[in-house]
Amino acid sequence: MGKKDEGCAIGIDLGTTYSCVAVWNDQQRRVDIIHNEQGNPITPSYVAFTDDQRLIGLAAKNQAATNPENTVFDAKRLIGRKYSDPIIKNDMMLWPFKVIAGVDDKPMIVVKYHGKEKHLFAEEISSMVLTKMCEIAETYLESPVKNAVITVPAYFNDSQRKATIDAGTIAGLNVKRIINEPTAAAIAYGLDKRSDCKKPRNIFIFDLGGGTFDVSLLSIKGKDFKVKATAGNTHLGGEDFDNRMVNYFVEEFKRKSKLDISGNPKALRRLRSACERAKRTLSSTTCTTVEVDCLYQGIDFCSSITRARFEELNMDMFRECIETVDRCLNDAKMDKSSVDDVVLVGGSSRIPKVQELLQEFFKGKDLCKSINPDEAVAYGAAVQAALLSGSIKNVPNLVLSDVTPLSLGTSLKGDIMSVVIPRNTTIPVKKTKGYMTVKDNQTSVLIAVYEGERAIASDNNLLGSFVLSGIPRAPRGNGHDICFAIDENGVLTVSAKEQTTGSKNEITITNDKGRLSTQEIKRLVQEAESYLAEDKQFLRKANAMNSLDDYIYKMKKALKNDCINLKLSSKEKEKISSAITKATSLLDGGNNKAYEIQVLEDYVKELEIMFKPIIAKIDLFSSFY
Ligand code: ADP
Ligand code: MG
Repeated sequence: MGKKDEGCAIGIDLGTTYSCVAVWNDQQRRVDIIHNEQGNPITPSYVAFTDDQRLIGLAAKNQAATNPENTVFDAKRLIGRKYSDPIIKNDMMLWPFKVIAGVDDKPMIVVKYHGKEKHLFAEEISSMVLTKMCEIAETYLESPVKNAVITVPAYFNDSQRKATIDAGTIAGLNVKRIINEPTAAAIAYGLDKRSDCKKPRNIFIFDLGGGTFDVSLLSIKGKDFKVKATAGNTHLGGEDFDNRMVNYFVEEFKRKSKLDISGNPKALRRLRSACERAKRTLSSTTCTTVEVDCLYQGIDFCSSITRARFEELNMDMFRECIETVDRCLNDAKMDKSSVDDVVLVGGSSRIPKVQELLQEFFKGKDLCKSINPDEAVAYGAAVQAALLSGSIKNVPNLVLSDVTPLSLGTSLKGDIMSVVIPRNTTIPVKKTKGYMTVKDNQTSVLIAVYEGERAIASDNNLLGSFVLSGIPRAPRGNGHDICFAIDENGVLTVSAKEQTTGSKNEITITNDKGRLSTQEIKRLVQEAESYLAEDKQFLRKANAMNSLDDYIYKMKKALKNDCINLKLSSKEKEKISSAITKATSLLDGGNNKAYEIQVLEDYVKELEIMFKPIIAKIDLFSSFY
């Protein structure tokens, strides 16, 4: 690939546990799933902070056991939520990193970086993961990438979607569109098995990932994808299955050793990694072992688990998945026999018992597994990105529509929820409903906007409120219109208008309660740049120190092998010895941060010139041994 790909748009599946990036390859007329530097198609959504550096992806996940407090994952669970959200309260008990309440009840992640305490928004952590995914794409495309389509779970509400856009902005990306993950998977699927049949085909998407569970019913007719209904669970996925296994082994360890590791984050983290591995293995074998050396107080842990036991531990959650499938079909008023294809998405959809229950539910129907479940979402996002960037000739023009995951409305007198846009309405959508004043001579109305399915308005989630003022004094029953508009990203705008006197009084709110302000985003973009600069500095220093280390090694070798090959004069030997001493002291100093990078680099250059002839000899010599 080359310069001609400049300006192309990528698709990013920003997962709770793993992320994936893909791009449309117009020459080959296919989607390329872009592999990271380790050669993996998926990258852990992890960010870690140490005294020296920031790590993102696998490097962050790999050091999680030794640096649990400063290794952040699951940012997607926090994004767009309040600190006081009960879901977060539960999650926090399992997280080894600290989360505190910030301004406006926004959760702040507390880490130690460069020896100092830092407070980070979930948007910042997600932006770091996005930066990483973008870098993976840039390396592959050999050109800068600025535009992206990012996917979110279907049930993400307004503020979660907006916060995801903010994360993209902080990462320096132009977020062209936010699309639902199951919709993206459906696009991928549609490309795979395109049919031009006249009759709509009903596709059921079952996405069981690491932290989230999403089901969607789509109908595809010709080029049109329509999302008929969605359902899901904010907290159901592979991590929950891991946790069940962790708890099971914590109990076993307690029985065997009389020690409780449940309060020890490091031990739990190491046990959890071993459990995740065991779980994956159990998808292809029926029994496996779980081993952790020196789990706690020097005691090794070794045990085994069967697939049957694993299934027993998680059966209630597996069944819940099937109940959700049923609920989604009920919402769409569709009988399961009308479903043409059932598509598996998400790493956890590989679990045999889950597949068995799902197949049983659909009366023995074959499940579609032709698209790699880890890649399907990024695949679809890449297609959507290509479509939106407009420069693509060979992508079939799919018209795509999503639905709202929750009902949206306002409260009536007596705290009654008045739904303006029912859930599962196709977006973009704009609906206006007329309301009346409830008191005589009322000059203003408080309009509260809620999302949710409860009949009592305040039992639903309050998205925001605003006052419509300037209503002329009149007996109660004075009319005003409230308009709800949702754009193609699922972002809501509510406006109200008073019309009786013909004098318009309009106010528009977007739900930005708890959202980062433009100024804050500006500041965070700058900070993101300084993080990148710090990462670069770290790499520069690490490279200089590696070079010095390399020289010391070669110099020592030169002195040692002198008698055999090199025939060094005593003057040369002296020079080498003193260079070794200086390089070693610089290296030690470098570790203690006592030296500027420039000093290290300058000395590397000096050595390079000084020892060029000798090094050439050594390299030649080493190539023979
Ligand atoms: P998300 O999009 O939610 O981040 P993914 O779709 O990438 O997640 O799925 C990640 C989850 O899938 C992890 O919990 C992982 O342990 C699980 N997983 C991956 N492969 C397997 C497998 N072979 N068997 C069971 N679970 C698996
Ligand atoms: Mg996913």
